[in-house]
Amino acid sequence: MSKYIFITGGVVSSVGKGITAASIGTILKSRQITVSAQKLDPYLNVDPGTMSPYQHGEVFVTQDGAETDLDLGNYERFIDVNLTADSNVTSGQIYSAVIAKERRGDFLGGTIQVVPHVTTEIKDRFKQLAGKSQAEVVIVEVGGTVGDIEGQPFLEAIRQMRNDVGRENILYIHVTYLPYLTSTQELKTKPTQHSVNELRRIGIQPDIIVCRSDYPISEGIRDKISLFCDVDRQAVIPLPTVSTIYEVPLVLQEEGLGQLVVDKLKLRAKQPDLSRWQELVEHLKTPREPVNIALVGKYVELQDSYFSVREALHHAALYHDRDINLLWVPSEALETGDSDLLLRSAQGIVVPGGFGVRGIEGVIKAATYARENEIPYLGLCLGMQVMVIEFARYALDSTEPNSTEFDASTSYPVFDLLPEQKAMQDKGGTMRLGDYPCQLVPGSRAADAYGQDMVNERHRHRFEFNNQFRDILEKAGMVCSGLSPDGKLVEVCELASHPWMVSCQFHPEFGSRPSRPHPLFRDFIGTAKDTLREGAQPALPLSS
Ligand code: GLN
Repeated sequence: MSKYIFITGGVVSSVGKGITAASIGTILKSRQITVSAQKLDPYLNVDPGTMSPYQHGEVFVTQDGAETDLDLGNYERFIDVNLTADSNVTSGQIYSAVIAKERRGDFLGGTIQVVPHVTTEIKDRFKQLAGKSQAEVVIVEVGGTVGDIEGQPFLEAIRQMRNDVGRENILYIHVTYLPYLTSTQELKTKPTQHSVNELRRIGIQPDIIVCRSDYPISEGIRDKISLFCDVDRQAVIPLPTVSTIYEVPLVLQEEGLGQLVVDKLKLRAKQPDLSRWQELVEHLKTPREPVNIALVGKYVELQDSYFSVREALHHAALYHDRDINLLWVPSEALETGDSDLLLRSAQGIVVPGGFGVRGIEGVIKAATYARENEIPYLGLCLGMQVMVIEFARYALDSTEPNSTEFDASTSYPVFDLLPEQKAMQDKGGTMRLGDYPCQLVPGSRAADAYGQDMVNERHRHRFEFNNQFRDILEKAGMVCSGLSPDGKLVEVCELASHPWMVSCQFHPEFGSRPSRPHPLFRDFIGTAKDTLREGAQPALPLSS
């Protein structure tokens, strides 16, 4: 039977509860304990797929095609597992399921209530993941902070689990934040005491408190939290802000969190081996020569919108012993601004995914700039559509080519909906989602990068390459280097006469791992690092 670690947050959100949950996974895995992870999101959307990135950040797609919270990306990268739809549970899913059961007559005669019907449905989701994953430990992160109205059924469900599966199989970890008062130059524990009181009020006494802080946490502060919140002294774990998120497992391990979890849950564990993780962090913290990469997108004001893309770029740069200097370029600025001014120092250009017409001419200009100036270009989903639109405009010598997403009446619809997509009425969960196979053309840059002919990659889009234009664009120099096995869908495109302009209809960023960069990102950075741009040239030796 699985044991459960429930992670709640207090004081404020966005202090790294997800990274803490993921890091606990890393630590347990380093002791050869099998782990799975789940995120509970209290909002009423069924999934984040219909939310704007400004509301929610990136939508992470699992192999089985679920549109999920970006924390699942952190779990996958830190624990090195591929998760499924079972790992993200929202209030929207829970209420939909309960109401569907009520309509079916499953509760005939009964009054449907938050307790027990909603809480039972939530607990079933924990047990479902435990059963399917067969993990020794299931880490469950409760989204939001203690005290949020919509989070209460989730907290009540995790409280009930204590009786359902036994106290010895449950661990409650509370992640809080210690604010720093400049006037008195001290960290304050009162908000932590209040959030622990709030947890206790609903019947949960945390076993461990992880204290986030931007400043070092003194022994006195630890003693105080231990006394007032009634947790063991060694169960107050300081987590000061670190320079890279990948350092968090090492900090928590150093503070004894791994041993504490193993002891409290009575897990059979090996000695921890975090040596490879340690090497990774040391490498990350070593100063490395930067590669200037421009990320051109419409949501760049909120960098979390491109969380996995940014991480994948860092993984790839590390492989080449380089650092990434990321230039965030808003696509709308390119629409009106001078491309050269905005992109002149870029050694590589990435156009990530996106929806809707806003800023689209700006990303098309970025593709023109990359093609004309032979700057390495990596297009991800929308980035491929943009690359093809741009190339079609050049090859057909017309400004007309477009996707019907942006111009429904274009006379050159190089991207269009397939008939099955045209029939879709609902917006939620109806795109082409999750893993699909892709056959690569031998000798292409894509096939060279992967070193194999057949790959599976995760998708999230509605529009597809229009095959009516395949011939004419191939004759003009575009290579359709990845196709669905039946040859009908174009999955990867590249330009034959360009140093490295490669785009894919899928999202390779979701598959990248810190020590296993994705092949397309790896080769993109490999070419970009040797691309000389203004301000990036190595200094010439002075001749005597
Ligand atoms: N908007 C495009 C489509 O739906 C691209 C989607 C994406 O980039 N994820 O096809």
